[in-house]
Amino acid sequence: MNMGQIIDGKALSAAIKDEVREQVLSLEKEYGRRPCLCVIIVGENPASQVYVRNKVKAAEYVGIDSLKVELPAETSEEALLARIAALNADPGVDGILVQLPLPKHIDEEKVIDAIAREKDVDGFHPANVAGLWLGKDCIVPCTPAGIVRLIDSTGVSLAGKQAVVVGRSNIVGKPVAKLLLDRNATVTIAHSRTADLGAVTSQADVLVVAVGKAGLITGDMIKPGAIVIDVGMNRDAEGKLCGDVDFASCVEKASWITPVPGGVGPMTIAMLMVNTVSCFLAGRLG
Ligand code: NDP
Repeated sequence: MNMGQIIDGKALSAAIKDEVREQVLSLEKEYGRRPCLCVIIVGENPASQVYVRNKVKAAEYVGIDSLKVELPAETSEEALLARIAALNADPGVDGILVQLPLPKHIDEEKVIDAIAREKDVDGFHPANVAGLWLGKDCIVPCTPAGIVRLIDSTGVSLAGKQAVVVGRSNIVGKPVAKLLLDRNATVTIAHSRTADLGAVTSQADVLVVAVGKAGLITGDMIKPGAIVIDVGMNRDAEGKLCGDVDFASCVEKASWITPVPGGVGPMTIAMLMVNTVSCFLAGRLG
């Protein structure tokens, strides 16, 4: 039986981080300081703590200075917005990331809008979203940017291919659909109200799944030879990390497939490093 090849997100992310590390060294020589990323975390969500720790670790590795701002869960929206305003005005801070989700009493949209567009390393600010959809210079959200790098690494051209994205969130589904469109794929976005999901996914030459439901996509739902990108991060009954794609049944039919862990996750962090350097450079070049 022909098995799909694994797209190794861990190896690709390591290569990207090594490139960024080199770049940071030369930036420091040229500009006299390193890029600085500020990560804000409000409350003690254990998953968020892990993500923030990994982001700070990656920044250390590539030589980006990191500033971790830990605020208690009861921090008011006003206090958080004031903190962001101060960081916006701080010339020593190049990128600002607020780890989501935020406690219920804080309006996430207001917080995202408050981050200066040019320091918005996550690419969630409306000005960056507009830039992406209008094809203008912008910061591209990290997970979607990482997904297209994974697809590009297969060497397969997307032009004229059928791409299906399952999930329509602002942070993954919608932006990744636009990036696939930019590569001239014919893009379909499926979601919870899609009738007969399997009929839609089985048309896909490239299938990106960003839902948050373990085992949603099984081998019978994919086209033979498809490229399958699994964005999902779920915990199974034993607490082990798993994706939205049933790997065992899909790997037999796919041409390329990402594992969980070791696929999209590490790429998201690598792209955050790339975005931080872009923000630093944009700040230097005016
Ligand atoms: P959201 O919960 O914001 O969006 C989920 C999407 O899936 C929605 O559009 C929803 O549809 C759709 N959906 C839900 N159920 C079904 C179903 N049965 N069939 C088809 N579509 C369905 O999630 P996110 O986009 O934020 O994240 C998705 C997954 O990716 C999560 O597991 C998350 O942890 C993971 N993730 C991983 C990252 C990484 O770096 N590896 C980064 C970000 C996210 P509707 O709009 O109709 O409700």
